Parts: sequence; C-alpha cells; structure tokens
Amino acid sequence: MKSKDYIELEEKYGAHNYHPLDVVIERGEGVWVYDVDGNKYLDCLSAYSALNQGHVHPKIYEALVEQAKKVTLTSRAFRNQQLPLFYQELSEMTGYEMSLPMNSGAEAVETAIKLARKWGYKVKNIPYFESELIVAGGNFHGRTITIISFSTEEYYKKEFGPFTPGFKTVNYGDIKSLEAAITSKTAAIMLEPIQGEGGVIIPPSGYLQNVQRICKENNILFIADEIQTGLGRTGKLFACDHENVRPDMIIIGKALSGGFYPVSAVLADTEIMGLFQPGEHGSTFGGNPLGAAVARAALKVIQDEKLIERSLDLGNYFINELRKINSTHIKEIRGKGLLIGVELKSEAGGARRFCEVLKEKGILAKETHDNVIRFAPPLIIDKETINWAIPIIRETLMMK
Ligand SMILES: *Cc1c(COP(=O)(O)O)cnc(C)c1O
Repeated sequence: MKSKDYIELEEKYGAHNYHPLDVVIERGEGVWVYDVDGNKYLDCLSAYSALNQGHVHPKIYEALVEQAKKVTLTSRAFRNQQLPLFYQELSEMTGYEMSLPMNSGAEAVETAIKLARKWGYKVKNIPYFESELIVAGGNFHGRTITIISFSTEEYYKKEFGPFTPGFKTVNYGDIKSLEAAITSKTAAIMLEPIQGEGGVIIPPSGYLQNVQRICKENNILFIADEIQTGLGRTGKLFACDHENVRPDMIIIGKALSGGFYPVSAVLADTEIMGLFQPGEHGSTFGGNPLGAAVARAALKVIQDEKLIERSLDLGNYFINELRKINSTHIKEIRGKGLLIGVELKSEAGGARRFCEVLKEKGILAKETHDNVIRFAPPLIIDKETINWAIPIIRETLMMK
C-alpha cells in the first residue's frame, strides 16, 4: 500500500478531528521518521514535545519491553514495584515532595484543578462551591469539557457547551489584568510559562516572578502547565526556571514517557498534594507499572544525555541561524531552547503552505495558529542536522 491508500482509509473510517499533513509515517529513529513510500524526514514537531528524547529511544524501548514481560497493569487497588521508584526519582529530579500520576495531559490538568479547588475550600476557607480559578487568554490546556470551558479559542468550544463554571480569564503577560481579577474566592492561577499551542508566545520577562509574588501576597496557588515546556524543552528543566520561579504545582506529561506511552503527573509538595484522600481521585491506568517503568527510563535519558543543556545550546544556535534568514515573510522569530516559533506576516498566506513545502523537502513542521511555524525537534538533535535543515528552511521561506 502507498501513502494515498492509507490516507483514503483514514479519511473514510476515522473521525476528522485532525488535519494532518499527508505523510504516512511507518518508522522513526532518533530525529528522523520514514514514510511508507520510503521518504525520510526530520521531525521538527516531536509530537508537540512528547519526543524530547527522540523516536524509539533504545533505553526507553528496553525498559518498556523488560517491564512488559513482567507485569503491565495492576490497577491501583494493589501496589506495584515500579511506582514507588518513579515517585522517588521524579521527586529527586524536580524538587517537589510528591506527585500524582495520570495518563494524558488533560487528565493531569483536571487533577490540578480538583486539587486547587479542594485547597481553596480546606485551606483558604473559600465558601463551598464558589472557588475561582484564573487562567490566561490564548491558553491551551487540553480538550475535556472543563478545560475547553476556559479556552478563549472560539473554535475549540463553540458547539460544545454547556460549560464548567468557576474560571476567569486574564490577559497573558499582563500583571495588571491579573491583579484586577483576584477576589477572596480565588484559589489559583494556572498558566503556561510559554504558550506553545498559542503560537510560542513568551510573556514579558519578569512576568512569572510577578505572578509568583502576587500569588504569595494573596494566598493563591500558582499552577504552571509545563506539559509542553517542561522536561528540558526550553533549555531548563522547567520553563519557570528561567525566572527562578517555583510554582505550587507543576503539571507535566508528553516527554515524561519519551513518546512511548501516555504518562502525565501533577507535582506539588506534601502540604498541598496531601489533601487528596483515598477515593477522591484516580485512574485505572494512572501509575501503572509499565507507564512508571517507561517514565523512569525517559527521565534517566534526559539526565544521562544532558538533554537540558543540549536544548539550551542548540536552541540558541538554531534560532541564531534562523534569524540570518532574510525573508520578507517573517514577522518575528522567538523561542527558548528548542521551542522556536517563526511568525509570518499575515500577507504571507498562512504558515500551512510553507509547512507543506517543508514536508516535500524532508522537514516535518506544523503550523500553530495560522501564521506561526513551530520548530521543536527532539532535543537529541545535533548541530550537523541543524546545518542540514537551515538552507532548506531558508529556501522555503524565500519562496513567493
Ligand atoms: C498537549 C498539552 C496539553 C494536553 O495534553 P494531552 O496529553 O494532549 O491531553 C495540556 N497543556 C499543554 C500546555 C499542552 O501542550
């Protein structure tokens, strides 16, 4: 079967909730993927940063296979031998005392919201059920009904109400707007330290520090959604580290399993995480031994291969090379580490057509919003590969 046969099947039998580029991937290795017609591509999306460690990393693969031979799922009705080690290693790496594992990122976001609400009632004494949670405009936190309830993206929600109440939106990057939204019923503010899906939007420097300060002054929890930005993507373990900010809760997912298996988690200290009582929250697969073994290996690869330092160095290199491209289509190039956005002018005719051409030339990148091309390759990429990609990107951005 050729690419077009697979595409026909998918269009016929699958829900059309995505609009993928027409490349049918059969195999991946490191930063490269291969399609069913034998073409090779550089993966510059990394499954929205789930593949920081690269495709089919041999160490994570080994952990997956070894654990799969032993036991894969125990349910949380019993304990398993992998989960405690995962908890311990995650705590040692991140500095948070406890964690709660889930599967998808959206589930971890829901978990953080539940925990923040409970904290609001039990610790802050907000009257039941009047808790408010502040979020930022342009956010992306996932796709559940509660999460889309506070999306500001019309398209994500327009036909899916009624929505979950209890959320207030402020302007991202704007401290005044945040201050104005706080009331005695505010339990938490949740935001992404860099908005990935929003178009690689970096808030003004000092913003995260100010958010942290305002949270402390007003007895509000600061929740950072680092599902995309965390675990090395921006050249620090967490994007909040760029401003030396330590949120009360951090949500991680994506690269936590190096792309093998959905594993997400909420990190917090005991004072907060300890509020959950048995039966108040859970998931059949969350914390299963296979996921825990995979996540342990994925974290170890980040440390052993110094992927955080690599991301910082190579990200700086990549962005500087991109900035040398002299194309009239480019409005702005921004990024931290290997999370880079090239924003095109609105006259450029949209980022999608450039992504289509990049694909023809062997680079997979995806537009985010209409005018931004995101470049976020696996953090194991090397300089040589970046040097291979740059002329292709230049050529593509120079087209009419
Ligand atoms: C991807 C993402 C999510 C949702 O994760 P899923 O695993 O797709 O549910 C939430 N927040 C951010 C910032 C993300 O990038």
